[in-house]
Amino acid sequence: MWMSSFARFALPALQRSSGVAARRVLGACRAPVPPPSRLTSVQLRGQQTLGSASLSAGRQPVRQVRALDQERMVEVEWEDGGHSLYPFTWLRDNCQCPRCTLESAQARLLLLTDLDIHIGVEAVELTNDNKISIVWPDQHISLFDAEWLKKRCFSAAARQAMQDELFLNERFLWDSSLLIPTADYQQVLEDDEAALAWLLALRRVGIVSLKGAPAERGQVSRLAQRIGYLRLTFYG
Ligand SMILES: [Zn+2]
Repeated sequence: MWMSSFARFALPALQRSSGVAARRVLGACRAPVPPPSRLTSVQLRGQQTLGSASLSAGRQPVRQVRALDQERMVEVEWEDGGHSLYPFTWLRDNCQCPRCTLESAQARLLLLTDLDIHIGVEAVELTNDNKISIVWPDQHISLFDAEWLKKRCFSAAARQAMQDELFLNERFLWDSSLLIPTADYQQVLEDDEAALAWLLALRRVGIVSLKGAPAERGQVSRLAQRIGYLRLTFYG
């Protein structure tokens, strides 16, 4: 969790610096740093099975929508040619209406005990403003934005793209040839390039040896404050 937070907040700020120091510190690793791998939307469309994925915001026109009663899924066909499948139960569980979701906190109000995991749908339709409307057997109505659904496409390619976006996407497996990257503690504190190099190495390799820190209390806190803020936890 910490790594993903740092990847989302600290790295973008530091990545405005050049990657020279990053390459230097990563030179200690076993393999050269590959370019970032990320599926493009074109690649994604080419290998979709369930639907095309797009992490970018913006209008996602729907061509048509239908309920597949036997599979217990709603199928959304997108104008770009892809299609996505969403389980009935998942859709009911994720209803965004004010009775089921508290919008201000983005928190669910629907109790699990009130969720029928065997639920069917009575009607599914595409509205004039590009939303998917579902009428459930108890006449409860769910209305989903197409963009909201597209971001949550269940296809393998879409999930991979989301993982690439949010989590670690360059796995570096350790073996006996691992040389632990090193960085200078003072440089990391004072120089953005060095800090970026440290963070990139830490994200990719998982361990970086910092040299030259004063042998005094509080040095770890200084390092943490370099990239974020400290807060107390239950864990001490
Ligand atoms: Zn609802």
